Amino acid sequence: MTQKWCHITCDVDTIDRHLQGYGVEDRPPCYLVYERAIPRLLEVADLTGVKMTFFLMGRDAMIQRGLLRQIVVRGHEVASHSYSHPQPFANLTKTELTYELGASKASLSNACEDAVVGFRAPAWDVDLATLTAIRAAGYLYDASWVPSPFILATRLAVYRHSTGKRHGIDMAVLPHLIASPSRRVGRYPSTPERGGSAKTDLLTEIPMSVAPITRFPYYHSLSYMVPKSVFDLVYRSIRLARNELVYTLHGVDGLGLHEDLVDVRMQHHPGMDVSLDEKLSRLTKLFRQFAKDYDCIPVKASLNSRQPA
Ligand SMILES: [Zn+2]
Repeated sequence: MTQKWCHITCDVDTIDRHLQGYGVEDRPPCYLVYERAIPRLLEVADLTGVKMTFFLMGRDAMIQRGLLRQIVVRGHEVASHSYSHPQPFANLTKTELTYELGASKASLSNACEDAVVGFRAPAWDVDLATLTAIRAAGYLYDASWVPSPFILATRLAVYRHSTGKRHGIDMAVLPHLIASPSRRVGRYPSTPERGGSAKTDLLTEIPMSVAPITRFPYYHSLSYMVPKSVFDLVYRSIRLARNELVYTLHGVDGLGLHEDLVDVRMQHHPGMDVSLDEKLSRLTKLFRQFAKDYDCIPVKASLNSRQPA
């Protein structure tokens, strides 16, 4: 049967974490995305009838517990985007990784009063060892895979900004390049100590959608980087291939640089030169299109219906 699911996912990176990715380390925690962007995104979701998955940091879970609870009550999913959004994520030590995975799961679950079963890595930076650790921490799915060579450019840029190094050849780029874009469900074995092949020890992979053949990644920042005709063409090619759609946006896609007095060092981030009205209108139109073409549900709600690859 053809999958008709669309998972609209949002990486809720705070402004301070975005800037850290760009090499700016001096910002204290900034809560603008929680206070302004997420309520706006929830309104757009209500208006268009879609249910979303929000990947959030454990660091802010207790302070934002009212908002997290509201996300769940309104039918959306709270998932983990690590505890403190460290980068490069796949280069963390085993101890750091265990903490980021475990502490975020516990704090987010407590705050939203719902089971947190999904994970997406900061800058989508995972390798097979990271995936094994994600399953060992009790997650049922990972949504970090971007099966596209275009990931290379963004990956290297983030690495260089965040570490000051000139080269990023030790980053986990290769797994993205060899991953299959057509595979709807990828499963990765858990740690050998846990028995490996038992069904309960497998992690479901939910890759970001890419165009067939060209592997152009289809995500919200792309809509600010290419002409609308190209953006629409990528969408149509994914529709024609009858693959499920996994669409990704960021919390800042619900913020206006001037309207919300965002730190001006964010001005080069895709879409930050666009007015808030235009950004929200663009999201509303897109969500309406997705709701027309797909069943827009949280990732978690699709897990039980998936077959092993
Ligand atoms: Zn992020």
